[in-house]
Amino acid sequence: MDCLFCKIANHKIPAKIVYEDEELIAFDDIAPKAPVHILVIPKKHIDSVTDLKEEDAPLAGRLLIKAAEIAKNKGIVDSGFRIIFNTGKHSGQEVDHIHLHLLGGKPLGSMVCE
Ligand code: AMP
Ligand code: ZN
Repeated sequence: MDCLFCKIANHKIPAKIVYEDEELIAFDDIAPKAPVHILVIPKKHIDSVTDLKEEDAPLAGRLLIKAAEIAKNKGIVDSGFRIIFNTGKHSGQEVDHIHLHLLGGKPLGSMVCE
């Protein structure tokens, strides 16, 4: 696959990488909505949450565990943070490569949708 986030995962386009291993990569969102706004993605291309297969369970779990670890490193565990997986048209998902948004560093408001 040759999508935007595959290119970031393959270092074909630059990003401010905050964590990387064989399976995952995490980088600063280019248009941050909060002081901490990091995207955590699998290097393997998966379109969205709805395309996860049973065999992806360990990978999906690692996305969450790594996001929590990054939150700890960024010092936002005590103040709190939010994790979002936008999925499909109504969510406003723009990039069709599954990504976890990690947001924190300021009060994030309610979950009321506009
Ligand atoms: P979503 O709306 O859930 O698909 O989120 C896509 C996110 O990717 C948005 O928050 C964008 O700001 C972010 N984004 C788009 N292009 C880049 C890029 N080149 N580097 C980092 N983040 C990006
Ligand atoms: Zn991709």
